[in-house]
Amino acid sequence: MNCHPTLCGMLVEVDDGQVTRVTGDPDNPDSRGFLCVRGQAAPEILDNPRRLLYPMLRATRGGRWRRATWDEALDLIVQRMRAAGREAVATWPGHGIFANNYGTRIHSHLLRRFSNIYGCQWWSPAIICWALGGFGLGLTGLLEPNTKEDMGANANLILLWGANLASQPNTGRHLAAAKRRGARIVTIDVRETEAAAQSDETVLIRPGTDAALALAMLHVLVVEGLVDRDFIARHTIGFEPLAAHVRAHTPAWAAEITGIPAARIVDLARRYAGTRPAMIVVGGSSMHKASNGWHAARAIACLPALTGQVGIAGGGLGPRHGASLRGQVLGNIVALDRRPPGDDVPSQMPRITESLVSGRVRVLLLFGTDMLSSFADTNRVAEGLARQDLVVCYDLFENDTARRFADVLLPSTSWLEELGCKATNTHVYLMPQVLPAPGETRSMPWLLRALAERLGLDDFFPWRDDVELVDAMIDVPATRHATVAALTAEGGMRAMDVSHVGHPDLTFPTPSGKLELFSELAVSRGLPGLPVYEAPADSPYPLTLRQGRTLTAFHGFYDHGQALPSLAKADPEPVLWISPADAAARGIAHGAAITLANARGEMRARAHVTSRIPAGTVWMRDGWSGLNTLTSGDAVLPDGAVDALGFSAGQAAFDARVDVTPLG
Ligand code: SF4
Repeated sequence: MNCHPTLCGMLVEVDDGQVTRVTGDPDNPDSRGFLCVRGQAAPEILDNPRRLLYPMLRATRGGRWRRATWDEALDLIVQRMRAAGREAVATWPGHGIFANNYGTRIHSHLLRRFSNIYGCQWWSPAIICWALGGFGLGLTGLLEPNTKEDMGANANLILLWGANLASQPNTGRHLAAAKRRGARIVTIDVRETEAAAQSDETVLIRPGTDAALALAMLHVLVVEGLVDRDFIARHTIGFEPLAAHVRAHTPAWAAEITGIPAARIVDLARRYAGTRPAMIVVGGSSMHKASNGWHAARAIACLPALTGQVGIAGGGLGPRHGASLRGQVLGNIVALDRRPPGDDVPSQMPRITESLVSGRVRVLLLFGTDMLSSFADTNRVAEGLARQDLVVCYDLFENDTARRFADVLLPSTSWLEELGCKATNTHVYLMPQVLPAPGETRSMPWLLRALAERLGLDDFFPWRDDVELVDAMIDVPATRHATVAALTAEGGMRAMDVSHVGHPDLTFPTPSGKLELFSELAVSRGLPGLPVYEAPADSPYPLTLRQGRTLTAFHGFYDHGQALPSLAKADPEPVLWISPADAAARGIAHGAAITLANARGEMRARAHVTSRIPAGTVWMRDGWSGLNTLTSGDAVLPDGAVDALGFSAGQAAFDARVDVTPLG
């Protein structure tokens, strides 16, 4: 799956067209033979009785599906696209279509190219993933990570700040290596995670208060003079306003907000400043799923800036989902210059939902996504889906969105059944096709080519075949001009020419080229010039709900994991972590059936009563059906700010306060 920046290598044994064995590849430099339970379950995709194998149509939603030919399905789609007009057509991809090309983004680029040349709506998938956290880091200017290998070899203190290793399991090996060298590992999170289990200490924090903790740590650095004045003078701007700003953000102030004792905040700041090199691994997505989540990333990025722990081995920021290293630049085939002018809906989640509800978008093409599972405030999204003239789902399995709202199902090829190519931060890997496509499943490039031909987009696919398409993305200096042919000859993998240290020349992608502790760019987009803590809005609901990753699931993949028997067995139903105090106050026993509810929605789950989560916070694995009926679909950034840094950061707030009651 898409555990970027790690990803695992597989050895697949095939006998007479059947996969007989899948094991971890011990020679894969990123994973060294490791395969998690999800990777081990991957063969269950193949020959799965629930697999979509043929195009399917139905006359009414909720009605019976009937098998159709590809021609019939594609003709219908194109007819509805033409009737709606290109600006009322939208494409939305999920993680599913990246499963065979994560890191190289081939299918993502191809879909964007299609949308640009045709001129329909296209929304960046980064808005549901890493981008809002990246926005906070990027305003300060610290976007390039150091690698997991560098962390293992060089870091002496590692702060896993909202970063759970369940989302990048191969980082764990390097964390263990750092620990063997004597490095100290500290987890900061809202619950005791898988990463906490590998840490020397865990700092439990109230959800949505990470910015307050970071500001108080900055206060300690400034007040106690634990800053690198030479580095600040040479490589940052805005130190004086920041230093004045953080004076009021005392550890005592932050203790009230975060629930972390002031003395512990002081101790953490002193140890961070006093240990060299120290690295912060910032969570990729979950910790930023809140209306104020990005402020934390921005404030955290000031810690290495003030201590001069940037551009050095073992320092800076550690591996982060979706981040690229210095030099990690692959091909670009999106054809942005070919996009006709039009009435574009921005890559801003609430605007997207509005466009569905208002009828501005009337034909929706979904690729490898369960939109109802992943978008915030999904009851409102469901309203929008219900109003569509046509909803098309291209996937491996039916999912909630498809069951409730699709008019057309298109069957997708899987890993092993199409050519793919993936990249971690350091290596590029070929994913050769070794099985024929089953039934009438088709690959993403095939599908988009077929649509483009019907729409008359003649030069959409200027390559002879999928091999040339892959080459267009990977034949670049970063890979030392890798091609499918070269990778095949080399055993399928190649190290990239990248720096293991972020910002090695101390240049930064900001208007000033320096780390910006104060950002004029932010001010120009209607945002505060300095990092701030914004208190979450008051709510009548007493518990703060957070969601995140586990090792047994990946978002809503495979119909919430239920289509693959071993994942369904490992994780059969939604489970809510709740503290013993909160459970006792509501008469909830461990394992009891419960309801989570707020004004937006409700869902059923089973209670997991555990002291690994503090009172006031509840937590659930993401991706479960119904979970995002509870979350806020409000905008986090102004529309004019979402594209300020060259990538789209229009994630909705995803905040949720809830109450939990026993069922029945
Ligand atoms: S799901 Fe992630 S950790 Fe598991 S085997 Fe695949 S790439 Fe590795």
